[in-house]
Amino acid sequence: MKKKSFVLAAVMVAVLALTGCGKKDSSSDDTLVMATNAEFPPYEYYEGQDIVGIDVEIAQAIADELGMTLKIEDTAFDSVITSVQTGKADIGVAGLTVRADRLENVDFTDSYTTAAQVIIIKEDSDILIPDDLEGKKIGVQLGTTGDIYADDISDATVERYNKGFEAVQSLTQGKIDAVIIDREPAKVFVSENEGLKIVDEEFTLEDYAIAVAKDNTELKDKINQVLSELKDSGKLQEIIDKYIVAE
Ligand code: GLN
Repeated sequence: MKKKSFVLAAVMVAVLALTGCGKKDSSSDDTLVMATNAEFPPYEYYEGQDIVGIDVEIAQAIADELGMTLKIEDTAFDSVITSVQTGKADIGVAGLTVRADRLENVDFTDSYTTAAQVIIIKEDSDILIPDDLEGKKIGVQLGTTGDIYADDISDATVERYNKGFEAVQSLTQGKIDAVIIDREPAKVFVSENEGLKIVDEEFTLEDYAIAVAKDNTELKDKINQVLSELKDSGKLQEIIDKYIVAE
C-alpha cells in the first residue's frame, strides 16, 4: 500500500514536470504579454468578449513580426506601468503618453502616434478655453496625464474615476464641470452621449509609445525595428485609419 502511493506520487511529480504545470505563460519565450486598460476607445476597448482597437492591432502586428503569440492582460490603467516594471507583462500598450517621470520606471519605444489632451464640457458650458478651468470641478481618469494636468489648475477640484467614461457620465449628470481626457476617446464618448462637446483649443500635445522594462533593451530595439517597418509600409497608418475617421 505504502509503496503504491509512493509510486503514484512519483508519477504525478513526473507528469507535472513534463507538462510544465505552474509555469507562467508570460515566462514562455514565444508569448508577448501586453498590459492594457481596455476602457480607452478607439485604442483598446471591448467588442463583445474581445479586446480590439488601434493598440491591439499594433501589438498584434509586432507579435506576428517577432513570431510570438500576443496575450492581453486587461488591468486598471494605473497598474499598466507597474505590470511592465515588475515583469508581469512584457509591454504596456495603453495609449501611454511618454513622460519624464514614467521614464524613471520603464523605457518607451519610439512613438507610434501623436495625441492630445482635450476638455469635454456640456454644450451650454461657460468654459470656452483651457484657462476657464480655474476654480472648476474637473473629472479625470486616475493616474492619467489628464489627472496630472488637472492637478496643476489653480483652485480646481479634481474628481478621479477608474474609467474615463465614468467621468463623462458624471459630467452628463451635472456633478462636475469638465473632463480632461485624450482626444480620440473624448470624441467617442461625446458621440455616445447627448449634450456634450469638446473645447476647440487642445490642452496639450503628447506622444504615445509602448512601455518596456528598463533592462529589456533587446525587446525595445526589436519593437522599434518593427514600428519603423510598419511606418514605412503604411501599415501603421492603415490601422489608425481603420479606427479614426479623418475630419
Ligand atoms: N494618454 C494618457 C496617459 O498616458 C491616458 C491613457 C489612458 O487612459 N489609457 O496617461
